[in-house]
Amino acid sequence: MSVTTEESLLPELVRRCAASGFDLVGAALAEDFDSSQPAGRRARDLDPRCGTLVVLATAARDAWERLHAHVPLPLAAEPGARAARGAARALGELCGWLADRSVRARAVQAHGLPPINLPQLAELSGLGIVSPVIGQLLHPVYGPWVALHAALLVEGRPFGARFPRAVEATFQPCTTCAAPCAAACPGETYADRQRADLRRCAQHRHQGHCASHCDVRRACPIGSEHRFPGEEEARRQAVQWARFRRFYGFGPWRMLPVRLRQGPWAGGPPPRS
Ligand code: SF4
Ligand code: SF4
Repeated sequence: MSVTTEESLLPELVRRCAASGFDLVGAALAEDFDSSQPAGRRARDLDPRCGTLVVLATAARDAWERLHAHVPLPLAAEPGARAARGAARALGELCGWLADRSVRARAVQAHGLPPINLPQLAELSGLGIVSPVIGQLLHPVYGPWVALHAALLVEGRPFGARFPRAVEATFQPCTTCAAPCAAACPGETYADRQRADLRRCAQHRHQGHCASHCDVRRACPIGSEHRFPGEEEARRQAVQWARFRRFYGFGPWRMLPVRLRQGPWAGGPPPRS
């Protein structure tokens, strides 16, 4: 019988995550993540016992297929919802696997409320860097085509206090790039190179544009051959739009006071995932 130790538990968890479809996995200490987050967005605001965070992402095509396999088509009303349902099912299994090893963990999905800043957590965990231009996670192989699905909020430090990084912090592609991403936005979200104006993105979306994809994401040359399947690209756009619509007060949300509309995202607009 294999004995699980502090050193072996994280590698075992990573292998199980990969089998479920999460092919990019990283870990960080909650205190390190929380020190970079505003009040209301810290891991220990969600769970005071959280000592470790594990971030789960998908990139490679075969990983998407493994995630989709959790939910056969007849059970998924829309094909585009398969990854979300597959992720939810896989997360439940992973938390159960940890509980069998006396490790308490809770999953927080990308679009759950209250939110957790998954791009920043992924950067801290060594999965890539957050582009200073467009605010999305960039991976050396997959570029911006990494789907951040969830974080596991793990009690204590069952994996120790030091974790391997998949991507070195020296990976900084935006510093030498002419930023075709910013120029590609028809909504002029990045017209001011010093500061993204996501309200402009929301206004453009409100006029009915960008439903199927984001030109900014598509314009980044890194990992363009790993673009999401079309249905997943559109589904993620729809989820992002639903959050922007509420945050910026479009449609029925304009009737609600700002405090109620923006309450779940205190500290800034919803992060992209
Ligand atoms: S969704 Fe459209 S408006 Fe928004 S950043 Fe992407 S390309 Fe620009
Ligand atoms: S296009 Fe260039 S500046 Fe824009 S995200 Fe990609 S690497 Fe960064």
